[in-house]
Amino acid sequence: MNIHNIFLKKEQFTKEDLTVLLASEGENQKLLFEKAKAIKQQYIGNVVHFRGLIEYSNTCSKNCYYCGIRSGNKEISRYTATDEEVLNIAKLVMENRYGSMVLQSGECSNKKVTSHITQLIKEIKRISNNSIGVTLSCGEQSESVYRQWFEAGAHRYLLRIESSNTQLYTKLHPQNKRHDYQSRVQCLESLKKIGYQVGTGVMIGLPFQTIENLAEDLLFFKEKDVDMIGMGPYLVHKQTPMAKYQNELLTIEQRFNLSLNMIASLRILMKDVNIAASTAMQTLNPFGREKAIEVGANIVMPNLTPLKYRENYKLYEDKPSVNEDAEETKNQLEKRILSINHTIGYDQWGDSAHYAESKNNWK
Ligand code: SAM
Ligand code: SF4
Repeated sequence: MNIHNIFLKKEQFTKEDLTVLLASEGENQKLLFEKAKAIKQQYIGNVVHFRGLIEYSNTCSKNCYYCGIRSGNKEISRYTATDEEVLNIAKLVMENRYGSMVLQSGECSNKKVTSHITQLIKEIKRISNNSIGVTLSCGEQSESVYRQWFEAGAHRYLLRIESSNTQLYTKLHPQNKRHDYQSRVQCLESLKKIGYQVGTGVMIGLPFQTIENLAEDLLFFKEKDVDMIGMGPYLVHKQTPMAKYQNELLTIEQRFNLSLNMIASLRILMKDVNIAASTAMQTLNPFGREKAIEVGANIVMPNLTPLKYRENYKLYEDKPSVNEDAEETKNQLEKRILSINHTIGYDQWGDSAHYAESKNNWK
């Protein structure tokens, strides 16, 4: 189908329509990007919001086949940042005027750990006088833990579905209760019920993944009515079971282009959601994050994790900014974002406009 006719359908895209958008190249890709850019301009504006990221702990009870910090990888040292380190990052977020931070970690549901995270959230809120927005990305937890964290002050949660195709999901994870697809979907539903702004996403260019699978992923985001999406290319980590498929992957350029097409198509499908320009984009292309912003993304997560931990939070190889310190990141990022004619929403939480809109609809 002609790409112009697909655009005319507005948000009522079928899987087939999305597959055409995702496969765009040449002139069609240019049109796709232009459309996404115009929609972002209309619904979001040319503003980027930052989230200071701390990779709080690499301890993980799961063993996802693609991830460098999976529990089966015995070649990394496990760490958990100290309270002082986390609170220093919160102070840095305030100094840098980022407005919000993300606490990300491996999945650990033991009560001592989850209660500790509750205390940390409260402390971040206290020392910042509630000026910092807190996003969590700490995997699957019980509804009561999610509620505890919400009541402590966290208001956004990122839990990527990784792939919404159950067959593909099964190939990416060990076959046991801890890695169950339905439980992950249930977690997204619990988060929404509690009142979080909910974020999800997928990896792009996974072994066995088809373009139709990615079109289904976009429809999944829409059906679940999520507020934020973080997607990025799949990248290989040698110490994982999936590394054995590395010769069967799309080329770096193909994965990068497909990721841009995913972001642009998503912006057209879900006009007012927050979309992250992922670090993995920058791994594939030195200007990957800027390009992602130009075609529809509006969120960047500068990595503020203490340098000594970064080597041990390598989800994939060649993860950028392993040696970059926070000041360097800030200056670089600022310059790069201004150079693509965007401004930075300093001192703001940068909440998803979609969330605000859906709340209004409930009233
Ligand atoms: N443990 C939590 C979870 O899985 O939801 C949060 C941290 S986990 C490291 C964050 C994300 O990293 C995952 O959702 C996954 O999409 C991404 N990731 C892991 N391994 C990756 C890889 N090899 N390439 C690209 N992204 C990867
Ligand atoms: Fe653990 Fe998350 Fe990595 Fe899976 S993706 S192994 S849950 S850190």
